[in-house]
Amino acid sequence: QLVLGFESSCDETGVALCTTEGTILGQALHSQIAMHKDYGGVVPELASRDHIRRLIPLMNQVLAQSGKTLQDVDAIAVTTGPGLPGALMAGTAFATSLAMGLGKPVIPVHHLEGHLLSPLLSATSPEFPFTALLVSGGHSQLMAVQTLGQYTLLGETLDDAAGEAFDKTAKMIGLPYPGGPALSALAERGDPTRFKLPRPMLHSGDFNFSFSGLKTAVLTTAMKLAGVAQPSETMVLNPQDKADLCASFQAAIVDVLVKKSIAATRESQHQRLVVAGGVGANRLLRTQLTEAASKRGIQVYFPELSLCTDNGAMIAFAAALRLKANPKLLNRQDYSMQTRPRCPLNTAL
Ligand code: ATP
Ligand code: MG
Ligand code: FE
Repeated sequence: QLVLGFESSCDETGVALCTTEGTILGQALHSQIAMHKDYGGVVPELASRDHIRRLIPLMNQVLAQSGKTLQDVDAIAVTTGPGLPGALMAGTAFATSLAMGLGKPVIPVHHLEGHLLSPLLSATSPEFPFTALLVSGGHSQLMAVQTLGQYTLLGETLDDAAGEAFDKTAKMIGLPYPGGPALSALAERGDPTRFKLPRPMLHSGDFNFSFSGLKTAVLTTAMKLAGVAQPSETMVLNPQDKADLCASFQAAIVDVLVKKSIAATRESQHQRLVVAGGVGANRLLRTQLTEAASKRGIQVYFPELSLCTDNGAMIAFAAALRLKANPKLLNRQDYSMQTRPRCPLNTAL
């Protein structure tokens, strides 16, 4: 069976066609990064409008790539939350209308389940059960994943998400949006030991995170380096200071993510650790985690780089797995277009 999936929860429009055996037949993605760049962040209204513009052309691209037509599709999948309300509505309204017109079911997909299962699309794919570190722009969570649909939250961030911390810190020191990739690129040229930054909650004894204090530590260091007394003043940092600060920040955040992930995997008595979400693209996180895990006989799995950030493939794939496990979903006749801008992973959609 074939599932056509749509993702539009934030600033990427993604479409993909997936078989219930888990093979992606075609996928297309449009990122709105260029459009939002001038504003230094995602402008929700612009995001919604752009999704509406992109959905049909991307869908046609995917069908052409796969050599399939809409009549070949057995189910439509769409991200119904969490995400920006307007952006979610654009995708959900489109996907639901399409499904109604075709007389096919709509399978609602939780965006975080899409991220969580995306490493299963890699050439080396983990078996259940595993511990998952989900680090994205809006979330930082550790989860115990028993099997499809059985997710236990072990801990999460008490303030900023890891990606958000990267983005806000980058913005603070004048790097372009989106800050995560820009900051980590600059960090490659810096000395990670130059500034002693805090490792928040490293020894908290639980699996929660906190990143806002780290962000503040970067700010006060940058102010000192730039010789300004107020954060509002323009901070001019020399290039080496900036690179060293980026490297020190990245080392601190990666250190916490690695240590807590390994501890959570051990406590769950899992042999596998799975990373998902945009920050999973971070090179240092990938190497440090692989190194720390191998010392303890834990196997680490990552999504392909292109599937770390938002995409349609992970949504079509999550729905395909759900459909394979529960063929009754084919009889679903709910076209109510419910979106859930905020919802925990275990919400029944
Ligand atoms: P959510 O899935 O929680 O709703 P989101 O969809 O916006 O949030 P993703 O698309 O998974 O998040 O990831 C985007 C985030 O990943 C951004 O914060 C971005 O800065 C970060 N990111 C991307 N590449 C890197 C990198 N190489 N290093 C660090 N952070 C990165
Ligand atoms: Mg995005
Ligand atoms: Fe996401």
